[in-house]
Amino acid sequence: MSATILIVEDEPAIAANVEYALRTDGFRPLCVTLGMQALELLRQQTVDAVILDVGLPDVNGFELCKQIRTFSQVPVLFVTARSDEVDRIVGLEIGADDYVVKPFSPRELVARVKTILRRARGGGAPEQARVDAWFKVDEVRARIEYRGAHVALTRFEYLLLKAMLSQPERVFSRAQLMVLTEAPEASMERTVDTHIKSLRAKLRAVAPDLDPIQTHRGMGYSVKVSS
Ligand code: CA
Repeated sequence: MSATILIVEDEPAIAANVEYALRTDGFRPLCVTLGMQALELLRQQTVDAVILDVGLPDVNGFELCKQIRTFSQVPVLFVTARSDEVDRIVGLEIGADDYVVKPFSPRELVARVKTILRRARGGGAPEQARVDAWFKVDEVRARIEYRGAHVALTRFEYLLLKAMLSQPERVFSRAQLMVLTEAPEASMERTVDTHIKSLRAKLRAVAPDLDPIQTHRGMGYSVKVSS
């Protein structure tokens, strides 16, 4: 059974390219040009993933994604023309699963779609199941449990860890983490290092043998959620 992919894109040439690439790969693409059409369609039928242009004529793609998230956990892949929007996308507080920057190759886009579909299917239960056994994020109470133990975190540490847990194994740059934790403009990227250090110490206090936070030299940090 082929997966249905909704393309929300107002540039006909791009929409046609993406549609063609998806169809060639055995997907069933649906195209709309307006955010409102996308919402209407998603309320009426189930699709397997959404490819969402950030710059739509009627509504900003970020806003649309938030609206979609009020009733659906469908995987969303953003398409943006501006690399400066990427930090907001990786923020994931808007609920995106991945992104590509224009111009992109349709082949690359299809590969990304396959990845988010695999992740969505493999994930089983949504939300908490994605962040697996080592961590449990309680967003309502702004708490994180690690290996069954509540870890007392500062606000910054909580936001930092929550941001990384939103995409386990993904390498976040310090600049991205600053955006995600709403760090004050004036603070230095070193701030992130300092908080990572204290975060590590707190996690080590729970399980001395594990170090779930990985340092990627010259790039940033990622978090591992299982061994
Ligand atoms: Ca556009």
